[in-house]
Amino acid sequence: MQARLFCRMAPVVKTFDYLVIGGGSGGLASARRAAEFGARAAVIEQGPWGGTCVNVGCVPKKIMFNCAMHAESLHLLKSNGFDVEVKGGFNWGQVKKARDAYIHRLNDIYARNLDKGNIEKIIGHATLTEDRCVEVNGQKYTAPHILIATGGKPVFPDVPGAEHGISSDGFFELEELPKKVVVVGAGYIAVELAGIFNSLGSDTSILIRCDKVLRTFDSMISAVVTEEMEAEGVKVCRSTQVQSVKKESDGTLTIQTSTGVRTGVDCLLWAVGRKPNTDNLGLEKLDIKLDSGGHIVVDEYQNTSASKIYALGDVCGKFLLTPVAIAAGRRLSHRVFNKQNDLKLDYSNIPTVVFSHPPTGTVGLTQEEAEKQYSPDRVRVYKTTFTPMFYALSDKKAKCHMKLVCLRPDEKVLGVHMVGLAVDEMLQGFSVAVKMGATKAQFDETVAIHPTSSEELVTMR
Ligand SMILES: Cc1cc2nc3c(=O)[nH]c(=O)nc-3n(C[C@H](O)[C@H](O)[C@H](O)COP(=O)(O)OP(=O)(O)OC[C@H]3O[C@@H](n4cnc5c(N)ncnc54)[C@H](O)[C@@H]3O)c2cc1C
Repeated sequence: MQARLFCRMAPVVKTFDYLVIGGGSGGLASARRAAEFGARAAVIEQGPWGGTCVNVGCVPKKIMFNCAMHAESLHLLKSNGFDVEVKGGFNWGQVKKARDAYIHRLNDIYARNLDKGNIEKIIGHATLTEDRCVEVNGQKYTAPHILIATGGKPVFPDVPGAEHGISSDGFFELEELPKKVVVVGAGYIAVELAGIFNSLGSDTSILIRCDKVLRTFDSMISAVVTEEMEAEGVKVCRSTQVQSVKKESDGTLTIQTSTGVRTGVDCLLWAVGRKPNTDNLGLEKLDIKLDSGGHIVVDEYQNTSASKIYALGDVCGKFLLTPVAIAAGRRLSHRVFNKQNDLKLDYSNIPTVVFSHPPTGTVGLTQEEAEKQYSPDRVRVYKTTFTPMFYALSDKKAKCHMKLVCLRPDEKVLGVHMVGLAVDEMLQGFSVAVKMGATKAQFDETVAIHPTSSEELVTMR
């Protein structure tokens, strides 16, 4: 009798104002902003707090990039007057331990921030149900507003033996620096991870289907990054596709490719794309539309095809970047919970950096896009190439390349594209100028900062 009474009183469905599926960049940002506006919010997460960026993306990647940058500057120390000798090389295991500890601290900070914001944390895999609820471990939850921010995951190609390779997720599990590495892919993740391996001492090859990496970027970036990778010692294998992978008895891999065989490979890393996390999410039960790539289709306000169910970030497949997911998530909460009905993310002029060696920075239209969107005779391009003063005393002279894409007649700056030392830190400020619609003349009116590399951007002729 008592048990039945308890059952009748127990809530079948727990209700919130805002239910967020995915505790990554976009989901956390949106839930916290909604809670600031007084919404009773809950976030459902099946893995560690922080999502891809914190655990297997931007953060651990940047730590490894920084290690690689230190490795590169070691070679410059002697010519800059230091009487030092590096013994023993790089201790990958020590760095991994420290990096993991750093990330665990971040996971805890994210969890504490949810507690501080009175946001309920629900742990487990979320599935939408026909009655517009979300089920996690047999418990049902609902809210008038539901956000899907479930991100994405790396794909493995359909090649015999592909499972012997790792993805970018596996990169962060490696316990030691592999001696001989093959990275497959030409996108930014392939370029970044190949660059890290190479700088830290692995014999590194990158296998690409065409003749250059970063082919969706401005042609200057694509050409220069490919050249620089080769100059730094990465073997760039063009027009090459993997046909099969075999694991040998000594644990090494033999990779059969369209251009030959590679033997004795310790690590094969696939960086051939990502797919949205929509497995077993129940989207079909609420008729939520997907595009041909399986991404959730949203309008410019992040609305899906189901009323008051929203989606943003990597699961939508547009600009797979942390700040994009965060910005879309915050704006959505302003719109839904703070009556800012017209607020939405403007997806134009989103700056992005590739942590290549040297780094790459880009914002706005590429020259090719500008010429297509307007006409080649309306586009004026300014370019410069120089050696940063940082290398004044060194034998190594990694050049810096810059390009401004401008629209005649007033020469509004449509795009800024750079490859070179420190351009990753230069780009943010110039993105403000591009977003504000600055013209080349306004760039030129700005007094230069000397001696820096960035001054070149306001003195180009
Ligand atoms: C190697 C690498 C390097 C990167 N470097 C950069 C960089 O330098 N700069 C940059 O801006 N971006 C970078 N990115 C991209 C960036 O990490 C993503 O764009 C960003 O994390 C997307 O945020 P999100 O909220 O859409 O998804 P995510 O951060 O992926 O979060 C989604 C969360 O949802 C959870 N989830 C999924 N399905 C369910 C379910 N059914 N139930 C419960 N939980 C679920 C997942 O566990 C995950 O935690 C990088 C990505 C990778 C892979």
